[in-house]
Amino acid sequence: MAKLLSKMQDERLNTRDDGDPSERMPVLFVGHGSPMNAIEENEFAAGWRDMGRSLPRPSAILCVSAHWQSKGTKVTAMQKPETIHDFGGFPRELYEVQYPAPGSPELAKATKETVRERVIELDRSWGLDHGAWIVIRRMYPDADVPVVELSLDYQLSPQQHYDLARELAPLRRKGILIMGSGNMVHNLGLVSWEHLNTPGYAYDWAMEAGEAMKSHIMSGDHSPLINYSSQGRAFRLAVPTPEHFLPLLYALALKGSDEPVELFNDRPLAGSMTMTSVKIG
Ligand code: ZN
Repeated sequence: MAKLLSKMQDERLNTRDDGDPSERMPVLFVGHGSPMNAIEENEFAAGWRDMGRSLPRPSAILCVSAHWQSKGTKVTAMQKPETIHDFGGFPRELYEVQYPAPGSPELAKATKETVRERVIELDRSWGLDHGAWIVIRRMYPDADVPVVELSLDYQLSPQQHYDLARELAPLRRKGILIMGSGNMVHNLGLVSWEHLNTPGYAYDWAMEAGEAMKSHIMSGDHSPLINYSSQGRAFRLAVPTPEHFLPLLYALALKGSDEPVELFNDRPLAGSMTMTSVKIG
């Protein structure tokens, strides 16, 4: 009996799921950039659309968005999440966009039950913020895949976020598409407004940090990314606040040792941002 219990415990703790890779839904980190990407036809929108077409069809999406930070980790549990227009100063057309994807109280409950080391709170007041809907709307324009959001607990360290994310691994075998949405390099205060529409324009530090991040991602060396705050000047400028970077750690934490990694929408933008996105699996 004790042996069986210990085996069960081992299985529960073994959240890095290294079984048959074909049964695991891929995992994404998506650079979302400006809310205008929701309505502008550009290379990023095309990249999201192509990704939506190339992935196996998910049973639901669990999105960790840079734009939902909370005390404690929460998961949206309503049947019909609202489209949240959480930005200011954009054209009216953008505020009129609705993305009526259903929620999934079942996935919210499964998420809560899958994570054992932290308490996940069911939420019925949030919805879909722009970190989620501007991207998912391009991937699934018919709004027929249920979407649930997971918040970023602002009290956790990067390592604690990474560890929490690893516990989500079993959801991949249930056809759940887990995606982090943020921007790896994201310094709004230093945006070059004159180069706003010049894709490929990057400051030297943004290029340096972006290239180092990609190199760590491709080699599977996540430790310098978890410890991003001690990687020197370029990283300090690239990640002045954690919320757009942390969703990347959620995606990386779910990588099995045998899984391929590829980049898409790999472009710097406006000097101080990158749209670089990652597909795992
Ligand atoms: Zn954002």
